[in-house]
Amino acid sequence: MPPALSDDPALAGLAARIADSRAALVALTQDLIRIPTLNPPGENYRLICEYLDARLSAAGFATELIRAEGTPGDCAAYPRWNIVARREGRRGGETVHFNSHTDVVDVGQGWTRDPFGGALEDGRIYGRGACDMKGGLTASIVAAECFLAEFPDFAGAIEISGTADEESGGYGGVAYLAEKGYFSPDRVQHVIIPEPLNKDRVCLGHRGGWWAEIETFGEIAHGSMPFLGDCAVRHMGAVLQAFETTLYPALAARRTEMPVVPEGARSSTMNINSIHGGQAEKPKDSTALPSHCVPDSCRIVIDRRFLMEERVDEVQGEVRALLDGLAASRPNFRYDLRELNRVLPSMTDRDGPVASTVARAIARTMGREAQFVASPGTYDQKHIDRIGKLKNCVAYGPGLLELAHKPDEWIGVDDMMDSVTVMALSLVELLAGGGTQTR
Ligand SMILES: [Zn+2]
Repeated sequence: MPPALSDDPALAGLAARIADSRAALVALTQDLIRIPTLNPPGENYRLICEYLDARLSAAGFATELIRAEGTPGDCAAYPRWNIVARREGRRGGETVHFNSHTDVVDVGQGWTRDPFGGALEDGRIYGRGACDMKGGLTASIVAAECFLAEFPDFAGAIEISGTADEESGGYGGVAYLAEKGYFSPDRVQHVIIPEPLNKDRVCLGHRGGWWAEIETFGEIAHGSMPFLGDCAVRHMGAVLQAFETTLYPALAARRTEMPVVPEGARSSTMNINSIHGGQAEKPKDSTALPSHCVPDSCRIVIDRRFLMEERVDEVQGEVRALLDGLAASRPNFRYDLRELNRVLPSMTDRDGPVASTVARAIARTMGREAQFVASPGTYDQKHIDRIGKLKNCVAYGPGLLELAHKPDEWIGVDDMMDSVTVMALSLVELLAGGGTQTR
């Protein structure tokens, strides 16, 4: 193991500066949590961009506020604002980009703290978005500020973006910016997304997703004489039965080389998000009794997560073949299959420049080997990969993934401090010619 940072003459200044930034790190995290950027509907995006603009401008970044006009949800009341900030070095070189989403999900029930209060208790900062991912955004800003102060002569450029709508697919955020060329490989060479994957893990990518709605059809009739109609719910029962006997065992048997965590997600999976058949649900406060009808329609929404080793047309074809099989064998079985959305898997090489740099910085900071993982669900890496055509991208940030979207979400200040060091060391290696391994 190399010596501690504080004993390394080339890095002691950086280590001291990071140690001194603890109070500023806490304050910035709290400020960001106190701007409630709830999505949906997409609140306060402009406000958080203006806050980040002031902060990053003060650190010498040139900033751009970009509205993703015409993307889903963008309107006068809830405009989709993004910020991209860039700080040029004194010499030419490569660009390292930190991308964080600024939106947070609904608060939900069960909080014992103010979800937008940013309370600091026993080294933890509480609030919606603390871990996913305002803590990570803060860590990247503080890391860049410390690096800039210690290595003013660096080569290349640093970019920091705060983007909208990751929690709803990223179309008003990273996807839009990628379409506008902000993630083109001639502009940006390394991307780090500070999602909460834990401070000692490098996340190389994510599984794919395919979402679809299946509808079965029947014929309405009086409920006392169901033989005069045709029950769409029973047809759907046959679909679910086929899933149980054929599809689920096949999915469970399919294993991936991707290092997905948790372990259970290292296979193909499918969730049935919803099911509805027959007459509409009555309002909660209604005391009316239902009328008696044979349902003529039943719908389910499926959420199929697939592996790098699978192709999306095969994923779709497998479900369609099962439905066609029922149409051939079951009297009066009619169905409709509508794709809702698809996201392809994304995986970068663990020996690639940004993945290996961050891994070395983790080993240097934490004194143990980094773990390489992949995410069960998707995040904005998909857009950087598919639209931006930029492969050299990982997710790395502080926070426990299991806390994301939960009540009493928190981020640990010590974990953030470690991630600041990892991010700053990565900048040293990529932009200041300082290998963190060889020292
Ligand atoms: Zn997130």
